[in-house]
Amino acid sequence: MTFSAPIADQVDLDFDRQHIWHPYSSMTQPAPVWPVASATGVHIRLADGRELIDGMASWWCAVHGYNHPRLNQAATEQLQHMSHVMFGGLTHAPAVELSKRLVALTPEPLQKVFIADSGSVSVEVAIKMAIQYQQARGLTGKTRLLALERGYHGDTLGAMSVCDPTRGMHSLFTGLLPQQLFVPAPQCGFDDDWDDNDIAPLRHRLEQHHQEIAALILEPIVQGAGGMRFYHPEYLRRARALCDEFDVLLIADEIATGFGRSGKLFACEHADIAPDIMCLGKALTGGYMTLAATLTTTQVAETISAGEAGCFMHGPTFMGNPLACRVACESIDLLLEYDWQAQVQRLHAGLQQGLAPAQALPGVAQVRVRGAIGVIEMQQEVDMARLQPACIEQGIWVRPFGKLVYVMPPFVMTDEQLQQLTGGMVAALQQVC
Ligand SMILES: *Cc1c(COP(=O)(O)O)cnc(C)c1O
Repeated sequence: MTFSAPIADQVDLDFDRQHIWHPYSSMTQPAPVWPVASATGVHIRLADGRELIDGMASWWCAVHGYNHPRLNQAATEQLQHMSHVMFGGLTHAPAVELSKRLVALTPEPLQKVFIADSGSVSVEVAIKMAIQYQQARGLTGKTRLLALERGYHGDTLGAMSVCDPTRGMHSLFTGLLPQQLFVPAPQCGFDDDWDDNDIAPLRHRLEQHHQEIAALILEPIVQGAGGMRFYHPEYLRRARALCDEFDVLLIADEIATGFGRSGKLFACEHADIAPDIMCLGKALTGGYMTLAATLTTTQVAETISAGEAGCFMHGPTFMGNPLACRVACESIDLLLEYDWQAQVQRLHAGLQQGLAPAQALPGVAQVRVRGAIGVIEMQQEVDMARLQPACIEQGIWVRPFGKLVYVMPPFVMTDEQLQQLTGGMVAALQQVC
């Protein structure tokens, strides 16, 4: 078999249906998939020639758009040197340069970098760091995680155990998943007046269970795949203070929010707090390939290293992958070179304006926008089988789930393209609902 260029336009859909899993898919009743030939800027070109304006940035990742000359060049250059070497006993400039950037950009206490291969793995790493840290301090009872309802932290076992316990996959894997502790999701919205009652359940949980809790894990400000909810920065400030009071580490999962999406470079900055451990992923390589990182403080890292094991117990095969690290450096440099903050503000305003008409549609519960994230929440689950094709008819790529029709466009999207995107969403909803 050869893979010649024209094949890119001739996807064997029968084979796909019969042999390939897609995310959360069925092998007996697969949902339709649309073959893609290429993607450039904010456009996804389907194999049949249609061009769609991309509202998803491939799940938060492609912040600079697709096929970016600078990222292409970085990857091509790195290929001339090496695409991968093992990270055990070896090191290289791409990993060192990336880590320098991450240490410089994230909150000051975060000084030590573990380069992982996907978001879920970086969450596993964060959980293991927290447990090893408490073990090393002799606090062997602190073996559980505390998490927020409506949270999403990934699909591997440890990450799954801290996802929302009822909307997640817990019931399928009882017996296998560690039993973690949960508190209700924050209720105060980002722009609401702060209500002190919002933090009471967290305080109560910590008072009762702090002796068994190694860390609190949360997505700062934006709860992503668990509901696309934007909560009050004061909640995060209080959570930080409570973690200190009860001797519990704070893990900030910034995999979705990192690199500007929420209006700050990292969502923790909305509350001006530093976590003890931070997970990064998704937009880290500008959407080019899989890469993630778990950062922690000197204190946590040194405590782990002084513990019984004498080291941190994790080391994936593709750790520090040079090709991905090199592209990540370029993506970060690119982000910092242009006024990303102004771009995100522009998208925020455009999303607010463009999605406002949805408020008047039947079946719409709420329209909300934070940074470059726009959400239309419906009263009922949307009919994907009708809505997805309707979006494509409108020339836009939007992938709703549950009650949520949402977008997080590439930062480089122009105002005109954004108008087409939001207008298309409203029109598709109008047609289907
Ligand atoms: C996507 C996501 C993850 C999981 O990342 P993968 O790369 O899909 O494993 C974890 N946490 C959050 C907040 C995410 O959005």
